[in-house]
Amino acid sequence: MNAQPLGLSVHEAAARLAQSGPNEIARERPTSAWKLLRSQFASPLVLLLIAACGVSAWLGEVADAIAIGAIVLINGIVGFLQEHRAERAIHALRALTAPRARVIRDGKAEVIDAARVVKGDVLMLEAGDIVAADAVLLEAHALTTTEAALTGESQPAQKSTAAARLDAPLAEQNNKVFAGTAVATGTGVAEVMATGMETELGRIAHLLTTVKDEATPLQRRLTAVSRTLLIACVAIVGVVAVLGVARGIPAVELFITAVSLAVAAVPEGLPAVVTIALAVGVRRMAARHALVRRLLAVETLGSATVICTDKTGTLTTGVMTVRELWGPDHRKLIDAAAACSDAELAADSRSGIGDPTEIAILMAAAERGIHRRDIELGRQRVDVNPFDSDRKRMSILRSNGVLYVKGAAESVLACSRSAPDGFTAAVEHLAKRGLRVLAVALGGGKAEQDLEVLGLVGIADPPRPEVIEAIASARSAGIQTIMITGDHPITAVAIARELGLLTDGESSENRVHARATPEDKLRIVRHWKSHGHIVAMTGDGVNDAPALREAHIGIAMGRTGTEVTRESADIVLTDDNFASIVSAVEAGRGIFDNIRKTLVYLLSGNAAELTVMLVAAAAGLPLPLLPLHLLWVNLVTDGVPALALVTDPPSPDVMRRPPRNPAESILGRPEWQTIGITALLQAAIALGVYVWALETRGLDTARNLAFSALVFGELFRAFAARDANRPFWEVGVFTNLKLLCVVFASVLVQLAIHHFPATQKLFQIGALSLTDCILTLTLGCIPLLALETAKLVKRHAARSQ
Ligand code: ATP
Repeated sequence: MNAQPLGLSVHEAAARLAQSGPNEIARERPTSAWKLLRSQFASPLVLLLIAACGVSAWLGEVADAIAIGAIVLINGIVGFLQEHRAERAIHALRALTAPRARVIRDGKAEVIDAARVVKGDVLMLEAGDIVAADAVLLEAHALTTTEAALTGESQPAQKSTAAARLDAPLAEQNNKVFAGTAVATGTGVAEVMATGMETELGRIAHLLTTVKDEATPLQRRLTAVSRTLLIACVAIVGVVAVLGVARGIPAVELFITAVSLAVAAVPEGLPAVVTIALAVGVRRMAARHALVRRLLAVETLGSATVICTDKTGTLTTGVMTVRELWGPDHRKLIDAAAACSDAELAADSRSGIGDPTEIAILMAAAERGIHRRDIELGRQRVDVNPFDSDRKRMSILRSNGVLYVKGAAESVLACSRSAPDGFTAAVEHLAKRGLRVLAVALGGGKAEQDLEVLGLVGIADPPRPEVIEAIASARSAGIQTIMITGDHPITAVAIARELGLLTDGESSENRVHARATPEDKLRIVRHWKSHGHIVAMTGDGVNDAPALREAHIGIAMGRTGTEVTRESADIVLTDDNFASIVSAVEAGRGIFDNIRKTLVYLLSGNAAELTVMLVAAAAGLPLPLLPLHLLWVNLVTDGVPALALVTDPPSPDVMRRPPRNPAESILGRPEWQTIGITALLQAAIALGVYVWALETRGLDTARNLAFSALVFGELFRAFAARDANRPFWEVGVFTNLKLLCVVFASVLVQLAIHHFPATQKLFQIGALSLTDCILTLTLGCIPLLALETAKLVKRHAARSQ
């Protein structure tokens, strides 16, 4: 290798960055705030309301018109703020998973954001990197890059430092690497000659279609639910209109009724609820070290049934220590192993940069007094044949003519003259203790053949303690954990047993895949998928990208993973830890539960309102609730608690249930039952008090009481909505403080609008006497208590069965 280039100084790089601007391809801007705001007013319901507002004004009902207009406006602004916040949160997280590049600055290797690369920077390249800018190669070792993005050629292109003709077409400029292409094999060093829009990629950027944010299956299913509701609502309104005309009801009154019904039936809060739930999910997962790159992953992860995971660094700490040497001459053995290394130790020999396996070897060598200068003295590097997980070995040719080789035992043995006595038994002995085993050998000349085996190095990579619990938790959640590793089968099984991934009686078949290649990963994903499983797959190497794309949820390692895997992943783990995957699954399941319960809560409310209005209309009674009251219920007394419901913490039993079948509808039979029962109950109470008061105390008071009884019923019922099986006192009243505050505040607001003359006029309601307050609050408690009693009865019945 040539003397290491110094690269730019940090100072110079900053100056150039200020001058040239960031190394970025101009992208389509995210949805503009204006567009987002406009979209809030584009739904059919809002258009209907705007029409209602216009008709009211035309009829001279100014108060109504102002109130409806105000509600439309508030609804739009609230929706806008929520979506805007969610989008910003997701955008901020994207920045965290932005591409990175390794450069040399002031003579030191450094990882920086790819956007900060400038002309003149020295890039260090290795397999799995995405090239950050166009650059001329200074060094290349077995370097190939995939340039499909630029040239359409899917075969990797060979790269070298040999100068190409100046007018050569892109595909033949083999001494250059281009932004956006991926390093397939080998290593290289290159000097940046163009960044940002000046790169070849920048030149064709306008040809690239930007990836649209796709709706998740859940969002699509909910859109379908909303559409069905809308159609049902139009049908009902049609029936009522026909009945009305038949009865000779005046057109204006009919119109008001129709609008009321439409308002009652449609859950306005629905889209915001899903956006917020997903955004909350993204934030929660980030707190658990899982960065979401595609929103889809939030919900898919919750239904995962199989997690295929790497061993090294994910199940284990990845902090390696040489534990044992085997061979006749330990000093010669460790010297040769250290001479076949790309890593570098820090001055204190306690840490290093590079492959952890090699750092461990360098540390062991340093302990025996063998340092870098001893290795480099009289034997400079001449050539490198880099490690890759297919070959499972690497070699370095030095100027003394000796080829230093290390790798997996059978891989090194395959190029050797003969195995020393006891070699195989020693490999097994070390592997049984869960050690990573490397054979070390010497050769003459560049070719890896006719090698002389010096011995074995046994390296410990202890399991992460928290993973044991995570695997047990996954197991009780009905999720199988599959280990995939490049290590020796005996090592793999030893670690699997230590982690509880394999229990005593279990065989390793299908559970532990050792000496696996990236192609095996793809095969394993396909195998589980074909058996109907939802598969999550981790990966770090460049060759893992296809398997990550094939899996339902591709998970890349944020620390050790390559750019290529990060780009193809749905989720990036910031701590490379298996336990983080399991807690992200927990978060994902919680989010789904939250969406479901909020949906049930909202739809129950709408169904109740619809029942009240339909029954009253059918019975020929004056309408108990005005359109404005219904809007108020939907947006304030249902909508606001719904926003608190979607942020509920996951229930403690989420990881004790089997995974959800992703094909299963979000609203199943039990959910529709709850909706039906609640609607009937709420409607019966509101209509009961209405009819009673209508006869004894007149229409105005009757409306007052029906309105407040319904509002309080809705508010209190939010506590019952938190869990389908446990009453609120078991869930804990204080485990969702937001909800508690929101309900309390809404009760006060409701009492206030009855109290103040201005709001009395606006809502066309009157004051509630103290007795009436107590009456409506008491009536409001009935649905909550009835629902909780039903849960207890159901549980009792299930127990006694
Ligand atoms: P995974 O990360 O998929 O769990 P792994 O990282 O253990 O697996 P590889 O890195 O492919 O898998 O290693 C496979 C084998 O190759 C190891 O058991 C070891 O014998 C050998 N090996 C690993 N790293 C090196 C290296 N830097 N040089 C030479 N041989 C190596």
